[in-house]
Amino acid sequence: MRTLFFYIMLGAISLLVSCSNKLEVSVDNMKRICGTLGSDAFMGRKPFTEGERLTIKYLQKELEKIGYAPGFGDSYFQEVPVLESTSKVLGNCYVSIGKERVLLNAPDEIAVHAPYPSEKISIKDSELIFCGFGIEAPEYGWNDFDGIDVKGKTIVVLINDPGLYTGDKMLFKGKEMTYYGRWTYKFDKAAELGAEGVIIIHEELGAGYDYNVPRNNAISSHLYIDDDSVWDKCKLAGWISAKAADKIFSKIGYNVEQLRKLSVGREFKPFNMNATIAVSIENTLVRNVSHNVAGILKGSIKPGEAIVVSAHWDHFGLGEASRGDSIFNGAVDNGTVMAWAFEIGRLIAESKTKPERSVILFFPTAEEQGLIGSAYYTLHPIVPMSQTVACFNNDIMVPRGEMNDLTIIGYGYSGLDSLFRIYAERQGRYVLPDPNPESGLFFRSDHYSFYKAGVTSSWALGCYDSKTHGKEWAEKTYNNFVRNIYHTPHDNYNPDWDWSGVVQDVELTYELVKYLSWSDSPFPKLYGLQ
Ligand SMILES: [Zn+2]
Repeated sequence: MRTLFFYIMLGAISLLVSCSNKLEVSVDNMKRICGTLGSDAFMGRKPFTEGERLTIKYLQKELEKIGYAPGFGDSYFQEVPVLESTSKVLGNCYVSIGKERVLLNAPDEIAVHAPYPSEKISIKDSELIFCGFGIEAPEYGWNDFDGIDVKGKTIVVLINDPGLYTGDKMLFKGKEMTYYGRWTYKFDKAAELGAEGVIIIHEELGAGYDYNVPRNNAISSHLYIDDDSVWDKCKLAGWISAKAADKIFSKIGYNVEQLRKLSVGREFKPFNMNATIAVSIENTLVRNVSHNVAGILKGSIKPGEAIVVSAHWDHFGLGEASRGDSIFNGAVDNGTVMAWAFEIGRLIAESKTKPERSVILFFPTAEEQGLIGSAYYTLHPIVPMSQTVACFNNDIMVPRGEMNDLTIIGYGYSGLDSLFRIYAERQGRYVLPDPNPESGLFFRSDHYSFYKAGVTSSWALGCYDSKTHGKEWAEKTYNNFVRNIYHTPHDNYNPDWDWSGVVQDVELTYELVKYLSWSDSPFPKLYGLQ
């Protein structure tokens, strides 16, 4: 139905078209920024390292260059207090079932860490309880913990939610992952119930990535916002490969496939596995301060209201070498996106009509470690969350030329969708709702921190339909990136990349920021999570 709002918006857009000059997006500028931040000199931009110092200084310099004032008083930096913990499993992990003892190699079979502020964590014969998907969702009439007390025990759960495996739209959201499907929910829920440990059975379909991702996660350091609320966590958390899980469950007459079939049923009941787990973990703890970076272009009429454009600056630093390379440069994750954000920021600053609301360019830290910088920002924002109109975040833009699509991750969560559609169609593009909502990407980048804080936010980019090579090619190249390059030392800058698709995304987001920066544009609506 075409509402009054629709016509007001159309009017606004045509006004915008008539008074805006042809945009001059600078590919050279983006190449320079991405090439610099993705170079070996920045050492993978890991928080607390020399890489952080270099990165945040560089971001400050670039913000100054395009005329953005310091976001935090007289500073471009916001201190984010963080506890860094690196877990090392001492020896192996054992599961005892009756008289048998199953050895699990860490991290190849079980990828666990101890999210607890002690240097030594010893899990001794912690009772294992299988709790289906580990979900308590009254609105779906679902409780995987029904009738069982998991306090002081270790729960074993499946990844994702029951809707994925049945495709039944009446069961959660069908194939689309709900927040209940996320590992963060499962970890939090286990802690809330007082469990000692939580282990997720990793399956590629449900997770959206292969076992190497949790494996690498377990041996990397973990970061937490360093305040009292932090320690509401289990002592043991992590993943077990489906293959290793089969090794254990076969002793009690199940395999993972059967567990799934059992767990999607409404009659499912959690059960004691009559088994225990033992593992010793040593934590190296470092209390530290990392930094969010932000610059602001003050609005001419309503400076106390703002639109945020965000791109996390952090990545993984140095890690296990692969084919002779040990620097996780993160050129695509998130160098290309920082370039995208700067280019939007520059164009806004240089446009003839000045924004009436403020525009904030925001580069959060520690996204890779659980959206820490952005979560901290929403607690201590430049402009209150209630006055923040929208947050345009992006992540993992793989430059592969112009695209016909505008893929919206988390389609349906906000009124930004309809704005995106209008502007995308003006570019001759169409809106594509995330084709893989089952992987829960919506919950996996900084826009989600804003969403949780009540701000409409987006992750939208051209991705799945190449103008030159078609859909199949686009999907293949993107999947190839996710499978073989994403979060590895091979995410390197390539001077031959075709940036024309990123240019489309710069133009589109620029138009949206511009539209919302008018003081009379209504705040886009936000829709509920479930
Ligand atoms: Zn990223």
